[in-house]
Amino acid sequence: MSRPTEITIAGAGLVGSLLGVMLGQQGYKVCIIERRGDSRKENADSGRSINLALSERGMHALRIAGLMDQVEPLLIPMKGRTLHPVDGQIELLPYGQRDHEVIYSVSRQKLNSLLLTAAEDASDVEVMFDQKVTDVDFDAKQLVTVDGPTGRNETRSFEMLIGADGAGSRVRRALIARTKGKSVSEFLDHDYKELEIPAIAGRHAIEREALHIWPRGGYMLIALPNLDGSFTATLFLPKTGEPSFESLDDAASVQHFFQEQFPDALALMPDLTEDYRAHPTGRLGTVYCLPWHYRDCGLILGDASHAIVPFHGQGMNAGFEDCGELVRLIETNNHDWAVTLPQFEQIRKPSADAIARMAIENYTTMRSSVSDEKFQLKKDIGFELERRFPDLFIPRYSMVMFHRIPYAEVLKQGELQNEILDRLTVVADAIEEVDFELARRLINELRRGDGSSRAR
Ligand SMILES: Cc1cc2nc3c(=O)[nH]c(=O)nc-3n(C[C@H](O)[C@H](O)[C@H](O)COP(=O)(O)OP(=O)(O)OC[C@H]3O[C@@H](n4cnc5c(N)ncnc54)[C@H](O)[C@@H]3O)c2cc1C
Repeated sequence: MSRPTEITIAGAGLVGSLLGVMLGQQGYKVCIIERRGDSRKENADSGRSINLALSERGMHALRIAGLMDQVEPLLIPMKGRTLHPVDGQIELLPYGQRDHEVIYSVSRQKLNSLLLTAAEDASDVEVMFDQKVTDVDFDAKQLVTVDGPTGRNETRSFEMLIGADGAGSRVRRALIARTKGKSVSEFLDHDYKELEIPAIAGRHAIEREALHIWPRGGYMLIALPNLDGSFTATLFLPKTGEPSFESLDDAASVQHFFQEQFPDALALMPDLTEDYRAHPTGRLGTVYCLPWHYRDCGLILGDASHAIVPFHGQGMNAGFEDCGELVRLIETNNHDWAVTLPQFEQIRKPSADAIARMAIENYTTMRSSVSDEKFQLKKDIGFELERRFPDLFIPRYSMVMFHRIPYAEVLKQGELQNEILDRLTVVADAIEEVDFELARRLINELRRGDGSSRAR
């Protein structure tokens, strides 16, 4: 039986601070070591996405921590995607078909502050700011921190170290080196930049309760609402080529590009060229690594073990789900961490791989398929199948966003759904032409895995 009394967490981001709350509630003494200063006292980091989409998996973890009542006032529901073609009608495509099937826009900074305060309010949880972890020795159970203001090094002992230190995790690096494991970061050839659609007289300039998308095939602009009436817009664009972040290299080219491609957005972005110049361009990547744990004294979670691209809005949600799952296993195993850590890795790794893949696939969906007629027909058929056969069919997007079915299972079910929807839309060009009795048979056959329908 291996039960530490004190847990050290590297990183007081979204995941590290929620985990601190939960472990504090479990009766552990927790010390969270954070590289940055206290974001509640300083200006929020401008290089990171300013708002995020929170959905069921993340909210469930917040409910476990008893924080959902406090988080709720920070949320703006987004009922669907509002598509902005270059010319033509703006259109709202609902995400789900029940009232509660919405996702929520939340400020990263406000949510992180709330979690930090909740962590500090929990008994026996301490957060140390301006302390960067630079080195970890798992055998000696020691880590080195550098104090931001003074630059002074300090060696600290730990009993159990959890790396929640994000995509560039130092703890991951040390853990992979110690275990001779494998870690790969795969970057997209697209980057992103955050821009702003300011409020007009304190109000949202476009529909407030929606995630806005300007899909343009090879690239896109999106915007999520903020409580102050503004929107955070994010431009996703190739690194090189035409158009690209490389080719849009001065105010005139940016202005011209927006005028041609996003004219309605441009009309709402008075500071576009200044924001474009001043805001950093961020990279988008996926981290695949294994193992995630070292004996009974080391673990990585959240972006540290499975950073993903943001196109399914699931990175934070998956990290929060990690926290809930870890605490569930700790309780089930009567606080035996030697048993819990490998189990956690075994359960979560396939799901992390599955959401990584679905997140990459969703980039194509968002920037192009979403405005395709076939995509919309499949979506309508998916909703109708869910209405008619709720025990047999839940659309993949809904499984990811509104349910807590393990991502690996969602990916598997999604592949079967694709096959069904492909077959139905070979012969049907409109929902009225769909043979729903055939659909029911196909679903049953494919779910049984007998493959007999494929032969016909
Ligand atoms: C453009 C964009 C949009 C996104 N949108 C969404 C979305 O809509 N929905 C969603 O669910 N997810 C979204 N994500 C993903 C989400 O931001 C991450 O999954 C989430 O922030 C992961 O939380 P984390 O705590 O694991 O890592 P981080 O948020 O990166 O936090 C890590 C923390 O560790 C600290 N740290 C780092 N190194 C050290 C060190 N050496 N020593 C001490 N401290 C250290 C950092 O300062 C930071 O505070 C988006 C990401 C991007 C880039």
